[in-house]
Amino acid sequence: MKIAVYPGSFDPITNGHLDILNRACALFDKVIVLVATNPNKSSNFSTEERVEMIKESTKGNKKVEVTSDSGLTVEFAKKRKATHLIRGLRAVSDFEYEFQLASANEFIDPKIDTVFLMARGDKTFISSSSIITMAKQGIDVSKLVPSSVLKRLK
Ligand code: ADP
Repeated sequence: MKIAVYPGSFDPITNGHLDILNRACALFDKVIVLVATNPNKSSNFSTEERVEMIKESTKGNKKVEVTSDSGLTVEFAKKRKATHLIRGLRAVSDFEYEFQLASANEFIDPKIDTVFLMARGDKTFISSSSIITMAKQGIDVSKLVPSSVLKRLK
């Protein structure tokens, strides 16, 4: 059984995240979505809300498990016998941060490898923060987030 962990803030989850998740499901037997919590970082939604929104939007997908953790992603992956981490890449601006993160994770444990999936062309502009900004301005974001998020933005 091939297991991957898809870690992120998911604050909140977007259709960009869900697209990466669905494509990761085609590559692995199980994908654990990990809401990584950082007590030093302020967030739009609580950890519980973020987990709940992801659970609601992935209901029916038997390959997906959703949970949260405050520790190191690599340690979590090892504990859950996962072999790979999933990350998404949008613009070149994502690359530097993602490359550094993947390298740090490789330093911690080279046996856990990171798989990158490119954002779909129509989803490259979607980010959690842009969703919040647009929703606050009254822009209709119903095509950009699942209904579990939409109802909580209102
Ligand atoms: P983090 O704070 O760990 O970057 P995010 O929730 O912002 O958490 O993102 C998690 C992962 O999903 C990152 O690898 C990010 O690049 C990717 N991602 C975010 N939005 C999109 C999108 N629209 N298309 C593809 N990948 C995305």
